[in-house]
Amino acid sequence: MINKKDAGPPSLLNRLVSLTTIRDVELFETSLLKTLAELLKINQIAMYRLSQTSMMCWLSTHSTNLIQDDNKRQFSESQEIYTSEIVIPEEIKSAQLWVETTKKPYIQLQGNQYLVVYPIFAANKIESLLSFELSHSLTEGEMLIITSLLSITYNFRSLLDESQKDKLTGLLNRQTFEANINKISSLTLNSDISQQPNGNEQDRRRTKTGTEEFCLAIIDIDDFKSINDRFGHIMGDEVLLLLSYVMKQNFRAKDLLFRFGGEEFVVIFHVPDQAEAAKALERFREKIEAYRFPQINTVTISVGATLISETHHLASEIIGRADQALYHAKNNGKNQLHFYESLLESGHIVEKKETGTIDFF
Ligand code: GH3
Ligand code: MG
Ligand code: MG
Repeated sequence: MINKKDAGPPSLLNRLVSLTTIRDVELFETSLLKTLAELLKINQIAMYRLSQTSMMCWLSTHSTNLIQDDNKRQFSESQEIYTSEIVIPEEIKSAQLWVETTKKPYIQLQGNQYLVVYPIFAANKIESLLSFELSHSLTEGEMLIITSLLSITYNFRSLLDESQKDKLTGLLNRQTFEANINKISSLTLNSDISQQPNGNEQDRRRTKTGTEEFCLAIIDIDDFKSINDRFGHIMGDEVLLLLSYVMKQNFRAKDLLFRFGGEEFVVIFHVPDQAEAAKALERFREKIEAYRFPQINTVTISVGATLISETHHLASEIIGRADQALYHAKNNGKNQLHFYESLLESGHIVEKKETGTIDFF
């Protein structure tokens, strides 16, 4: 993208309007980098998305180069933002420690450049660090631009997060399924991590080397229609809500829990193998069976599961497999768990060839 340098600084208000029309969290963050780079006239700006569990982080970088045309007019050329997973650099680690303890931005003179690091919060934790270099110390006006934009980012991010949730249960909604499935693909394929900051999407897509797998399970309440019919829709909603609480309790915080449709839920979680996945799902099925729902008393669920471990599957294919296993559970007396892989092996179901168009990986 080529911008005319002498077209004047972009209006902050115009920028805010276009920023807040974006409804995708990641797109919003990359646009924030571009906006800050333009407003502060900095050549390179980086965002380190921290992991809560490891010393790795996701680095997104945006850079702008000044170029001259034949008439010696200057243009700024905006580079594509690239993202890669890297070990947190030492200077960013120091900056993180500083912002965590002082709650202030980190500004450090290095040679003739100032390194500036600002935290971005989400749910009261530092989720990312924004970092750039300047040839001068930040002016008050510049600080105001940064803190205002980051506050707007914080508020807008929580709104976006809300829109990704199911209103009744607070679980992820179906619309976020595709985006989350794509994140799973990068987790599955990135066990061999590129430390190259300018590694592109292609570089990151290495072959999976670990033995870990993801399990996807569809959980469907048995005879839910009759619960609604006998106790009313409001009591039906109460069952959905209580079931989602038990679900949050049963699975780990990092597992992805969706309300997929009316009385249908999907869970995607990381497991070493099918036996462990079966244990977690069976434990959940038993918990629901033992739970005493007010007035209704007992409610049961049927579960169809499959493993996601190979590349180049279609999202529709994965869901289709879990659905086949669920269908078997329903036809076989309900209140039970079945794995697609086991049913295939025992000859209870046959492999269906999918011709869907949604690329899984
Ligand atoms: P099965 O054991 O085969 O799954 O039977 P079922 O009755 O659970 O399934 P069916 O698909 O026949 O009925 C699902 C019912 O769920 C029908 C619909 O009215 C009800 N439902 C869908 N969304 C909601 C909701 O948000 N709240 C309530 N209370 N009911 C809902
Ligand atoms: Mg049902
Ligand atoms: Mg159903």
